[in-house]
Amino acid sequence: MYIFIQSKVLCMKTKILLEEEQMPKKWYNVQADLPSPMDPPLHPATHKPVMPDDLKAIFPMELIRQEVTTDRYIDIPEEVQEVLHLWRPSPLYRAHRLEKFLKTPAKIYYKWEGVSPAGSHKTNTSIPQAYYNMKAGMERIATETGAGQWGSALAFATMLYDLECTIYMVRSSYTQKPYRKSMMHVWGAECIPSPSTKTNAGKAVLEKDPDTPGALGIAISEAVEDAATHANTNYALGSVLNHVCLHQTIIGQECREQLAMVDDYPDVVIGCVGGGSNFAGISFPFAGDKMTGKHKDIDIIGVEPASCPSLTKGVYTYDFGDVAGLTPLLKMFTLGHDFVPPAMHAGGLRYHGDSPIVSRLVHDGVARAVSYHQSEVFDAAQTFARTEGIIVAPETAHAVRSAIDEAIKCKKSGEDKTILFNCSGHGNFDMSAYDAFYAGQLVDYEYPDELIREAIGRIPKIE
Ligand SMILES: *Cc1c(COP(=O)(O)O)cnc(C)c1O
Repeated sequence: MYIFIQSKVLCMKTKILLEEEQMPKKWYNVQADLPSPMDPPLHPATHKPVMPDDLKAIFPMELIRQEVTTDRYIDIPEEVQEVLHLWRPSPLYRAHRLEKFLKTPAKIYYKWEGVSPAGSHKTNTSIPQAYYNMKAGMERIATETGAGQWGSALAFATMLYDLECTIYMVRSSYTQKPYRKSMMHVWGAECIPSPSTKTNAGKAVLEKDPDTPGALGIAISEAVEDAATHANTNYALGSVLNHVCLHQTIIGQECREQLAMVDDYPDVVIGCVGGGSNFAGISFPFAGDKMTGKHKDIDIIGVEPASCPSLTKGVYTYDFGDVAGLTPLLKMFTLGHDFVPPAMHAGGLRYHGDSPIVSRLVHDGVARAVSYHQSEVFDAAQTFARTEGIIVAPETAHAVRSAIDEAIKCKKSGEDKTILFNCSGHGNFDMSAYDAFYAGQLVDYEYPDELIREAIGRIPKIE
């Protein structure tokens, strides 16, 4: 009887919280548990594996080491832990009201990363990246930003470590989201719409197409060029790379502990995928459990927009990370490096490629990918706002859509699965996208297969 009451009480919990001291002190490196090593990044000109020295012009040594290491755990420096404590451990919520609304027997949990100062998971990596650059004696960091979340997260981090920060922001977002730009200014960073005339890469694109909405791949070319041509400047990336995914694994590790507190473990783990970092963050610790046989049957789902379907319609091959072909070639799912996705409201998901590790896990069948249209995604976001209260970022709404669909499947099958999704950020600066949804102005755009085939045809051939 006592046990019954206790478990009932545990199940009814809404917020599952860890103490500050319980925040993980190490990042988990899923590369340690892959059945075979990752295909290495290749030099853009020679097509030979990239050497650490090739990356030294734009990254500090410690991040280069973290990019390639197969150590299972990497210590989080104490100075970084102190800053992370501003908002971590982040809460895990049980979505009681959403469950009730859906009349599902499934249990839905969401990890709430919107509590960070910049409002998303991106500060989990901007803090250590700025820290290692400061330690290496850098004075300035150049970066790109899509929807503005990464730019604001890095502006916050560079401010803490007294670094200057220049941010190339995709033009369509720069005009759609003026307040993200304002946040970067408050935190002392410079924000430039991309493509710009500050770089050769930007000028080349503007000559061809002066009205281009811009794309993450173009902004990356600009930031890399800026860093490579200034000795006091390094480059930082908010997603895709192994070290970025590594820093995000604090999310999934916390989730595993929080679920253990209510005697639970996920059957389904869901995250939206732009470059793959928040999905990596919530899923890699569970993918590790799956690959090492601790828990075999976890369904790990990455969710992407139908208008930029890299995991569901791209090819798994070597491609550049940027439009100009300046970055190393990465083995990943890609739609072709010069694929310019249509302007859509989830700006943070408009990227032609994906994290090599996320791509590998999808390719190996450890994780799978699904895609959704904007209108069904915003419909889910509205349901979430009207049940759980939180107005999520349009990117996050893709994960919400998938979590709701999995819960509806459980209703039909009668299964009481445990569904966990990453609630990667708030949408407080995305209200124009919600307005467009209510005005019926959101266009569901399926990228034509013909254009995808063409862009894929321009991917470099590697012998
Ligand atoms: C940037 C961003 C994403 C997409 O980027 P990933 O690297 O795929 O995580 C998703 N959600 C939010 C809130 C973001 O800011």
